[in-house]
Amino acid sequence: MNQKILVLSEKHGSKLKNVTIEALTAAKQMKKQAGRIVALCLGTYTEDQIKQLAEYGADQVIIAEDESLNVFTTDTYTDVLYQVIKEENPDIILMGHTGEGKDLAPRVAARLGIGLISDVTAINFENGEIIFTRPIYSGKAFQKKKVIEGKTFATIRPNNIPMEEPDLTRTVDATYISTKIYHNRINVNEIVQKATEGIDLSEAKIVISGGRGMKGQEGFILLKELATVLGGAVGASRGACDADYCDYSLQIGQTGKIVTPDLYIACGISGAIQHVAGMSNSKMIIAINKDSEAPIFSIADYGIVGDVFEVVPALIEAFRSVKM
Ligand code: FAD
Repeated sequence: MNQKILVLSEKHGSKLKNVTIEALTAAKQMKKQAGRIVALCLGTYTEDQIKQLAEYGADQVIIAEDESLNVFTTDTYTDVLYQVIKEENPDIILMGHTGEGKDLAPRVAARLGIGLISDVTAINFENGEIIFTRPIYSGKAFQKKKVIEGKTFATIRPNNIPMEEPDLTRTVDATYISTKIYHNRINVNEIVQKATEGIDLSEAKIVISGGRGMKGQEGFILLKELATVLGGAVGASRGACDADYCDYSLQIGQTGKIVTPDLYIACGISGAIQHVAGMSNSKMIIAINKDSEAPIFSIADYGIVGDVFEVVPALIEAFRSVKM
């Protein structure tokens, strides 16, 4: 029987999420010679988005174009994803370890009666077997897992599987399917865009994060300026969110978002274990803190002991002059 890999596509506004492209890249690595990668789209997708899925590796695109799927709800997406998996019977199912993925994957796995490997940060192959790496103990250690029997189901942490270049010559025909929605206990009346509009914090390559050391909302305006110059997104510690310096949607850490950008700049953040749990896998960490003993320095690649209100404006000026 030919191998089939199903990848659940996600969008952010009009663009495919990077994690969807990363999941397609992972699928390509796992694909056997006669294997097929099927991208599943829930809701309306444009021709451009379908073409992009093909360019990044989808051999087939299935679209469940029910209008009610244009807005994510746990019930509707679970129903539809479950039906498609039953119908398509893929060997491997991949999706992003995003808000949606974290919500959906365990429910669908439970309905199917199969296991789930969540929050995968790397995929390797040993003796022809797929080995998934995932962080445990808030990122302090890594666990390697493989599936012994049955379907493989995994969620991929954003920003960890390097995206491959698209093959612009590839195209694919979309298959439109109708699905039944059995349960829906939620009506979404309105979606309010919060402070994270622009670059999606979980997918940002550069994150400028502020803590209680930023002293107030004005401090975060400074961070926004640095983020704009560098093309990054602003994040925060819970200390800063609790103090109402910024919105909770920016919170990074154990009870906030988990980020793994190429560059994380921590400004006026002490480095509490709960914060570190959300950012310690960043590829490079720069910490700015006036306390040379602050724990954040123990995980930083570069540390600047200084006042954020002197260092951050100097960085903005320096990066601006480099860009000009
Ligand atoms: P502080 O610890 O007060 O640190 C402020 C830092 O700013 C200090 O190091 C200080 O030296 C520095 N500073 C002050 N002024 C300046 C200046 N002018 N220039 C430079 N540096 C300056 N926290 C999270 O972040 N994310 C979570 O998800 C999270 N989840 C939690 C879950 C639980 C169950 C619990 C109990 C706590 C959680 N916390 C979380 C809270 C966490 O324990 C810390 O309280 C919080 O991270 C501290 O935020 P902070 O570093 O901004 O503030």
